[in-house]
Amino acid sequence: MFEKIVSFIKSLYPTENPVSLHAPRFSGNEKKYLIDCIDTTYVSYVGQYVSRFEDEIRQYTGADYAVAVSSGTAALHIALLLSGVSREDEVITQPLTFVATANAITYCGAYPIFVDVEQSTLGLDPGKLNSFLLTNGVLRSDGKCYNKITGRKIAACIPVHTLGHPVRIDEIIEICRKYQIPIVEDSAEAIGSFFNGQHVGTFGDFGIFSFNGNKPVTTGGGGMIITNDITHSEKARHLTTTAKQPHPWEFVHDHVGYNYRLPNINAAVGCAQMECFAAVLENKRDTAQMYNEFFKNIGIPFITETKHAKSNYWLNTIVLTDRKERDQFLDYATIRGIQARPVWTLMPSLPMYRHCQCEPIETSQWLEDRLVNIPSSVRM
Ligand SMILES: *Cc1c(COP(=O)(O)O)cnc(C)c1O
Repeated sequence: MFEKIVSFIKSLYPTENPVSLHAPRFSGNEKKYLIDCIDTTYVSYVGQYVSRFEDEIRQYTGADYAVAVSSGTAALHIALLLSGVSREDEVITQPLTFVATANAITYCGAYPIFVDVEQSTLGLDPGKLNSFLLTNGVLRSDGKCYNKITGRKIAACIPVHTLGHPVRIDEIIEICRKYQIPIVEDSAEAIGSFFNGQHVGTFGDFGIFSFNGNKPVTTGGGGMIITNDITHSEKARHLTTTAKQPHPWEFVHDHVGYNYRLPNINAAVGCAQMECFAAVLENKRDTAQMYNEFFKNIGIPFITETKHAKSNYWLNTIVLTDRKERDQFLDYATIRGIQARPVWTLMPSLPMYRHCQCEPIETSQWLEDRLVNIPSSVRM
């Protein structure tokens, strides 16, 4: 069985050895735009590529505003602050995510609460979110939701479009609205993913993207905040650019700001990447289709997009029988030059998040034991 999988993967990626999980690809104008940055000396925070990249993302996603930042983590941090998250607040998120989601909550001095994911989307389970809030949430006269047990404000909710697969964002929005909880969509992995034909990240109060080297669109490192609220976007731009008041020569800063700007050279790479993104997405979706058919034939469950969802298939994922089989496969594939990876260790198992409030997370645990991500780069 393992042998069949490995030889199929090698047939998809014939020349590359070892076969990486998700390699960046530069096949467009990346070099040309980078040379332009050097030639014009606009390598840093001033330059046309930053606003051009923001426009590209705005147009592609249909968001009204986009603010480029230095990483997806920085984007999450700012989106949470602008959602009103402050010290001693709480933020609901899922245990199955990349650690940056929980870290951004901690940067605000707030505490994550972990609510389980559902098996079909790998994202926050609307039913479990609802029952968590029914039991623990109370709307007080200030119009905010509080946790009955800890007394702290539940200041935001971060559903994650895990591995590029859209969560049931419509239901999550409806539940959070009832409790007046702002939503930051962690769509770090999900550029090119849609729910009911609408790009993910545009449903909540904020959406964020990552353009790290392993993401479907890369700027080397980088991120983006998207929102439909002009005030949010202006504040995001202000806070991420050291909160400096515009002036020809004076340095006046009116807040503790952050140096979270995306340099022009990174944005230049992003502009070139976006020019090729339609083809990249098609290629990735074709690969997922081939995997899907292959795994159907050999009887191994393969994660596919759900009804109403269109996934970018950032990483292709299979579901093995148990943790033992998962580990055996990971060893088997690694030795044969195939980069396969388990999903992340669940947040409540990490030392920093061990003491956070955590609902029963059977589905996340079940998935942690069984999911394996397999090579998903664009095929040549
Ligand atoms: C990559 C990622 C981030 C963080 O993005 P960086 O650009 O690496 O800071 C946040 N959340 C999720 C789910 C991610 O996959």
